[in-house]
Amino acid sequence: MMDVDQAIAKLTRGVPRKPARTLPLAEAHGRILAEPMFSDLSVPPLDNSAMDGFAVRSADLGQPPVRLSVATTTFAGDPPAGPLGPGHAVRIMTGAPMPVAGADAVVRVEDTRVVAPTDGGEQVDILVGAAPGGFVRRAGEDIRPGQQVLPAGALVNAANLGLLASLGVGHVQVVQRPRVAILSTGDELVRPGQQPGPGQIFNSNSFTLLGLVRECGGLPIDCGIVLDDLDATRAALRQAAAADVLITTGGVSMGERDWVRVALEAEGAQLQFWKVAVKPGKPACFGSLGACRIFGLAGNPVSCMVGFYQWVRPVIRLMLGDPRPHLPVVPATVSETICKRPGRAWLERVVLDRDPSGGLLASRTGSQSSGVLSSMSQAHGLLLLHRESTGVAQGERVSVMVLDWSFLHSREPDYGW
Ligand code: AMP
Ligand code: MG
Repeated sequence: MMDVDQAIAKLTRGVPRKPARTLPLAEAHGRILAEPMFSDLSVPPLDNSAMDGFAVRSADLGQPPVRLSVATTTFAGDPPAGPLGPGHAVRIMTGAPMPVAGADAVVRVEDTRVVAPTDGGEQVDILVGAAPGGFVRRAGEDIRPGQQVLPAGALVNAANLGLLASLGVGHVQVVQRPRVAILSTGDELVRPGQQPGPGQIFNSNSFTLLGLVRECGGLPIDCGIVLDDLDATRAALRQAAAADVLITTGGVSMGERDWVRVALEAEGAQLQFWKVAVKPGKPACFGSLGACRIFGLAGNPVSCMVGFYQWVRPVIRLMLGDPRPHLPVVPATVSETICKRPGRAWLERVVLDRDPSGGLLASRTGSQSSGVLSSMSQAHGLLLLHRESTGVAQGERVSVMVLDWSFLHSREPDYGW
């Protein structure tokens, strides 16, 4: 039986990234950049004021207060005022361009007093000194022309949408989403909404997989339910293998009607391996049919989900060009003693909480049976116990793969000040 690490290494080797497609910027939210983005302009484009106040020559303010003549007023969106002569100031608003020459600082309006207008025009008393560059935002201080602003593989999140918009980018090249076919097998399965006959159950795996595929950026294709029949399974597999990835559930262990492996072989699939030393999710088979990567996951709802996180998710993320395709594993203390037999790695469903020292506390969700989907619904992560481990004692340090960080969100503001 193969180790988990070995299996992951095999499955993730040589996964090709999907090609790029062009999308209008607003539609690129949540996608991954297919190419690095460079700026061809300066942000901000011109020196401009960081405050409402007066643009001045700092050398004029040697011994404040100093009375200056107000040459003009510049608002954000105006062109820059002409050169500022000695003894003059320009009234300037936040974001407005600095005068083309002469002015090298801004004094905040709070630090000035406007003098009643005289025949000589408007005047202002500047009450404080200014250092050269004070309250001036320099052209290009955020981004310089030619600078790489985002690498290929970056997620187009809200900040990056804004960053690209600030460069005037209207369209971006993103990586196409892998098409992921989902096929559930089992005579016992009916769709939610249908009436189950005696002995029948609702197909839940297709729905968890639909969510999991979407959550990790793939494009799910629901291929429905196939009965436990060799010919029907072969036909369904043949059709579904037009996708980039095919996930089947059930029918992959030693039962008399477990046809998935047989059907894949009959269809000419290249099977890589089919047993990994892990609980849950030991019966699983991996291979390819043409260009389609196939993951035959176990039918038990928890095995199916855990199998997806272990095997399928990294492959989808690699197809998306994610430079970090693996979920985070963090240290935690375990709240109870767990006894284990060596031979297989265990992935135990746990809820996470902060412990008093600021670390994380991991507690099992109760039954670890691979049929108990409600425990997956509660779980924030999977506690990882190595193949040779004989268990852990209460309070020991363990590693947890985090699936859901929502336990760190808080009901009340939690700034800690
Ligand atoms: P199998 O791997 O086909 O032997 O199925 C193992 C267990 O998982 C059986 O109890 C099945 O009824 C259950 N199961 C298989 N497929 C699904 C599914 N799509 N939704 C819910 N339960 C399933
Ligand atoms: Mg079955």
